[in-house]
Amino acid sequence: MALLSFLGAIQQVTGSCYLIESRDGAKVLLECGMRQGHREDEESNRAPFAFDPLSLDAVVISHAHIDHSGLLPKLAGAGYRGPIFATDASCELMELMLLDAAQIQEKDTEWENKWRARLGKPPITPLYTTEDAEQALEQRRPLAYGEPREVAKGVQVTFHDAGHILGSAIVELQVQDHHLTRRLVFSGDLGNTCSPLMHAPTTLDRADLVLLESTYGDRDHRPSADTLDELADILQQAHRDGGNVLIPAFAVGRTQDLIYYLGRFYQEGRLPQQAVFLDSPMAIRANAIYSRFQHLFNSVDQAAIAAKKVKRIEDWLPILRCTPSPEESMAINRVKSGAIIIAGSGMCTGGRIAHHFKHNLWRSDCHVVFPGFQAMGTPGRAIVDGAATVKMLHQRIAVKARVHTLGGFSAHAGQSQLLDWVSHFDHHPELYLVHGELEKMQVLQQALHQRLNWIACIPEPGEQIAI
Ligand SMILES: [Zn+2]
Repeated sequence: MALLSFLGAIQQVTGSCYLIESRDGAKVLLECGMRQGHREDEESNRAPFAFDPLSLDAVVISHAHIDHSGLLPKLAGAGYRGPIFATDASCELMELMLLDAAQIQEKDTEWENKWRARLGKPPITPLYTTEDAEQALEQRRPLAYGEPREVAKGVQVTFHDAGHILGSAIVELQVQDHHLTRRLVFSGDLGNTCSPLMHAPTTLDRADLVLLESTYGDRDHRPSADTLDELADILQQAHRDGGNVLIPAFAVGRTQDLIYYLGRFYQEGRLPQQAVFLDSPMAIRANAIYSRFQHLFNSVDQAAIAAKKVKRIEDWLPILRCTPSPEESMAINRVKSGAIIIAGSGMCTGGRIAHHFKHNLWRSDCHVVFPGFQAMGTPGRAIVDGAATVKMLHQRIAVKARVHTLGGFSAHAGQSQLLDWVSHFDHHPELYLVHGELEKMQVLQQALHQRLNWIACIPEPGEQIAI
């Protein structure tokens, strides 16, 4: 029998990692994600892999988000030279994400080594370097959705659209072990059916074993129409108040959703602002990739975009101004009213949004809109929780701007959508809950039992099962 080891994103949401070993000796790593969040989580990325990187035959990645792909450069740095399979669009997005992640690692280490030197401590090396990221990128092998491929002896992989971000996949693996074939389906991150641009997650009907993500296993999201009306109201109010609107957003996925919605408002005459600045080099590059892969969008949004003859995202929202260079970014500081500024980082831990906070957060005529979850301990969370001041760029800034949180923009399926997706399997496969906090998984486990009469297991970190 083949073995499956639950190595990462077990009873938590980051660091996705699973290992499949067949009795015939094939060894496939499914996901190679980075752990993110608290300092201890980030430190744990430095621990050696739980397997010998040189013994792997192939690596398979569900999508480009760092918590699913972010340790690939470390794997390459540890000597792995085999193929890394992902969809075409994921392969392109990974280039952005991994090079950016490597730069962050290098910069953080340089900073840390400065204070370590002052304390007389020995320097540390970065988790990985740009060179490692470039090596990992060399090993990418793009696959189209629905195209089966033998990635190792007796292990066949097929990607299906997960509708979460561009290129995101549900991974179907057929593992042959002597004369027995077992079908394993890993949900990856399943999209929210209310998200724009993306398709609804593909439903599958056959599996022996399913790994189901449970990020929002405990609740449903607000309907997107309500969230959009709320956003439109905030923008009208901001226009009346006369200040700017700041939106901290993740560069890949959330930013493109926002631009799509703002473009719709613009066309409906519901956008009172005169300019939308996209102040994130990474988001600007991600836009170009989204534009190139328009054929992957859902048919309704694709038709809307085609009707406007959109070649680039800027054609969809004509008042969008991209500011890749630091000079262009700084020039935004002179705009005192009537602008929407979208910038990273998503949780306000750094990046260009910090500079815009410095110029706008203390002004009572400005508005800040959080379109996504803010993790504990981040400046974004402090602002959401009503802090009177926040520390940013080595200075305290008063929070006088009006702060709004929009709950309905999640790129993950809510509980009902998870139940609906899994209910398409035609007989009750073995079901394991992954990629979620324990309490949320327990709520989902109960809902699966009550509504579908299905038993779901919650694996322990490091647990190994026969498949
Ligand atoms: Zn994701």
